[in-house]
Amino acid sequence: MPDNLPPDAKHKGESFATRMSHGGRAGTRVHGFVNPPVHRGSTVLYPSCEARGALGARSLEQVMTYGTAGGPTHYALEDMVAEIEGGTRALIVGTGLAACSLPLMAYLKAGEHCLVPDSVYGPVRRIANGMLARFGIETTYYDPAIDAEGLRALLRPNTKVLYMESPGSHTFEMQDIPALAEAAHAHGAKVLMDNTWGIHHFQPFTKGVDVSIQALTKYVGGHSDVLLGSVTVNTPEDWATIAGAAREIGHYASPDDCWLALRGLRTLAVRLKHQEEAGLTVAKWFEGRPEVLRVLHPALPSHPQHALWKRDFTGACSLFGVVFQPRYTPEQINAVVDGLKLFGIGASWGGYESLALPTTNHITRTAAGALELEGPTVRFHIGLEDTNDLIADLAAGLDGLPR
Ligand SMILES: *Cc1c(COP(=O)(O)O)cnc(C)c1O
Repeated sequence: MPDNLPPDAKHKGESFATRMSHGGRAGTRVHGFVNPPVHRGSTVLYPSCEARGALGARSLEQVMTYGTAGGPTHYALEDMVAEIEGGTRALIVGTGLAACSLPLMAYLKAGEHCLVPDSVYGPVRRIANGMLARFGIETTYYDPAIDAEGLRALLRPNTKVLYMESPGSHTFEMQDIPALAEAAHAHGAKVLMDNTWGIHHFQPFTKGVDVSIQALTKYVGGHSDVLLGSVTVNTPEDWATIAGAAREIGHYASPDDCWLALRGLRTLAVRLKHQEEAGLTVAKWFEGRPEVLRVLHPALPSHPQHALWKRDFTGACSLFGVVFQPRYTPEQINAVVDGLKLFGIGASWGGYESLALPTTNHITRTAAGALELEGPTVRFHIGLEDTNDLIADLAAGLDGLPR
């Protein structure tokens, strides 16, 4: 087979793990080395003026015209991300947040309206309330649990974008993506979704999503040392809109970071499999502890919207929340987190190391007033450590709380 086919063409039908191993390696003379090299560059040279002129019209294809249009390292990662999400094309941008903001800017214009779930990744609120508002775009925040009928009541003649995130950040509320997408499409609106939690366990384009966003910073990077985002689409028209807007604004990602993400992808399948299991083991352990009121993990049958996860997802990642009994103060729970030996205290997730991050239990809400969680809440990310060691560390912390 020719060496320059995209990975999906050569490995269609093979399992996720096999595709993560074999994709994104072809298309470059690598002298027998397993991995492609990093291609850095701004200027791209052509053999003649005519050759350069001929390529200009193809600037949204994987054709090297100038550094900002990407190079072989970007294209290898683009192909792999499109493969993971089941889309036709993916664009790599500098951060996950840039991947959230780019499609909002690409599909909306002054005088238009967009719908954003109240459980959205916090910084998206900043874009909506800041730049989008300044540019004359109005945002309505909606209850993520809304059904199609509820959504239809919020759609206005000028509503052009429905934004979704499932499960939502910090509260892990699920959304009925297919039903909401159908209602939005019937209205002529574009459906954008942040699929960072789902990764490949949620296949957005079979569920009505037009544009899928991922923070590659999380599990794809996988080592807490790279920031990247992706915007994946499934039609040439959406590609033209997204890639065109990215060119207008000047989005770019470092090829070194793309190379690290490609390296992260090689172990994504095994890491995810391990972390899914480890996450569930620890989440179930928390459920059995008297200090815990409830665990916010969509793959647990106790999650109020577990049925949606079961219907739409094939697996879970290792990020979930724990609401402690209201008899504890946030200070008491913070002291437990401070005392953990194996859990770092910090933002982000998806790396090889475990994290614990207290969530404010006064959650910003616009649709239905502030959301108060019943007790102090901590978001846990389970890494690649031995699960027994993690549980022993957590048990020592909880054992120190008053009964
Ligand atoms: C982390 C995160 C982002 C942003 O990713 P960065 O690379 O940190 O900018 C976007 N969406 C979700 C759901 C995230 O968790």
